[in-house]
Amino acid sequence: MPHNGSMEHNTPLISTIVAGLVLAFGFGLVANRIKVSPLVGYLLAGVVIGPFTPGYVADQGLANELAEIGIILLMFGVGLHFSLKDLLAVKAIAIPGAIVQIAAASVMGVGLGYVLGWPIGGGLVLGLALSVASTVVLLRALQDRRLLDTDRGRIAIGWLIVEDLAMVLTLVLLPALAGILKGDANGAGWQEVLWPLGLTLGKVAAFMAFMLIVGRRLIPWLLHYVAHTGSRELFRLAVLAISLGVAFGAAMLFDVSLALGAFFAGMILAESELSQRAAHETLPLRDAFAVLFFVSVGMLVDPSIVLRDPLPLLAAVLIVIIGKSIAAFLIVRLFGHPNMTALTISASLAQIGEFSFILAGLGVSLGLMPERGRDLVLAAAIVSIMLNPVMFVLLDRWSAKASEADDKLEAEGKLAVPVHHHDGHVVLVGHGRVGGVVSEALKRDGADFVVIEHDNDRVAKLQQDGIAAIGGNAAAPEMLEEAEIASARGLLVAIPDAFEGGQIVAKARALNPTLPIIARAHSAEEVAHLKTNGASVVIMGEDEIAKAMIARLGANTSSASS
Ligand code: AMP
Repeated sequence: MPHNGSMEHNTPLISTIVAGLVLAFGFGLVANRIKVSPLVGYLLAGVVIGPFTPGYVADQGLANELAEIGIILLMFGVGLHFSLKDLLAVKAIAIPGAIVQIAAASVMGVGLGYVLGWPIGGGLVLGLALSVASTVVLLRALQDRRLLDTDRGRIAIGWLIVEDLAMVLTLVLLPALAGILKGDANGAGWQEVLWPLGLTLGKVAAFMAFMLIVGRRLIPWLLHYVAHTGSRELFRLAVLAISLGVAFGAAMLFDVSLALGAFFAGMILAESELSQRAAHETLPLRDAFAVLFFVSVGMLVDPSIVLRDPLPLLAAVLIVIIGKSIAAFLIVRLFGHPNMTALTISASLAQIGEFSFILAGLGVSLGLMPERGRDLVLAAAIVSIMLNPVMFVLLDRWSAKASEADDKLEAEGKLAVPVHHHDGHVVLVGHGRVGGVVSEALKRDGADFVVIEHDNDRVAKLQQDGIAAIGGNAAAPEMLEEAEIASARGLLVAIPDAFEGGQIVAKARALNPTLPIIARAHSAEEVAHLKTNGASVVIMGEDEIAKAMIARLGANTSSASS
């Protein structure tokens, strides 16, 4: 192929991926620098390579498909953390919650449509589009806050699944309903609505039954088989093939959404012990494609709408972030859940995304909603996604205040929740094969210690056992502070990755110049790296294993000869 300037035109897929990722990286970095969510950077990157701004324009169709892959991998990952039992456990709140919220948003949409002079069908499409939260945005928010494995997180996800199902039905029913909504008396009758409704429900049920009966046996068996081949590459491939294959197959054969198909594929796997490994294999790809999702959303938006249609846009945004939130809050409270749960669910659902675009597009092509409606939905989506991190910040503020109030009550002797402050404690980073043994010993000695561990499940388990454990990457900002490293009597870095270990050691050293720091390494280079970053002692695993082997050999041969 000749290397000339026209090459970029021949490779729309490559240029879309490259431009999307490179710009998202640049803007994400800037966003991080000025302390706003990197999502804002990704969205802006999309606006820049979108058709409404001058310069290079990426391929929207391809960007959307890449975004779909991100959605599939995300939902697959969520499914891996979710068993059928979890899903059934939240149905009592998730089903009525989602339905009430969709209904409330629809009523508000019809109201807004009425003000704008649209027929009722247009307002209904608008309201429905404003009612469904984006999977990607919700999952990212829950992941960032480590809420996926909490009760609140599970309710939010169950709620999302119900919304997803409702949207699958809506997309099927809308064409049939369009005739009725437009008052086409000689057009459609109710039976023309009931038939596709029944058919779609039947297909969804058939898909679920298929997954539970066939998939549940076949998929874990396949993964086990591949795991025993010992090839990491094949295992990774198997995970990708299963997640993408099931999602696509579900969409093609059963008309289920890709997201729902992927969720089920993951959920089937959640019951097998290989699921943790499977989840790990998809992480890097998942994160890259999730970024492309935000870029593709940014590309859809014509920024001039802010000037052309400011008030309707404001109204649409208010419906999404306030109207829907109030509805969600009320229903969750009504079901007897605490304020914190209600607010978390409200915040995580106070945004719209991929389904809204699809629905708005369909509404326009069916002649139900004017094009202006679609532009409003797109702009409301980007604004609500940008504001979503702010909602969570407000939530954090509120919960800090609430716990301050609790502290006050406690000071007045009404609430006896002990707030433990550590001093002269040991900080242990990593609770795996190495850290686990260390923590057993510390516990036996009755030592005061705090664990920092990346893996959510492990953290939950530790907390259940009454051990002070903080979830997250110890190299991230504030983590060591949270473990009160300044007043600790020692730091044990028991993670296998010495590069990350070096960052942790350097941070701790900066916060506490005299702290004894013991770190773990696997090679001479790693020992040197950790030492230059400030570790007091570095234990090299292979060295210790060798020493232990020699000692055993000595003991065994001497006992044999005696
Ligand atoms: P192992 O190699 O079996 O001792 O396990 C290492 C443990 O450290 C695992 O539980 C990881 O989740 C955890 N881990 C690895 N890196 C970090 C990190 N940067 N911060 C906190 N925990 C980590």
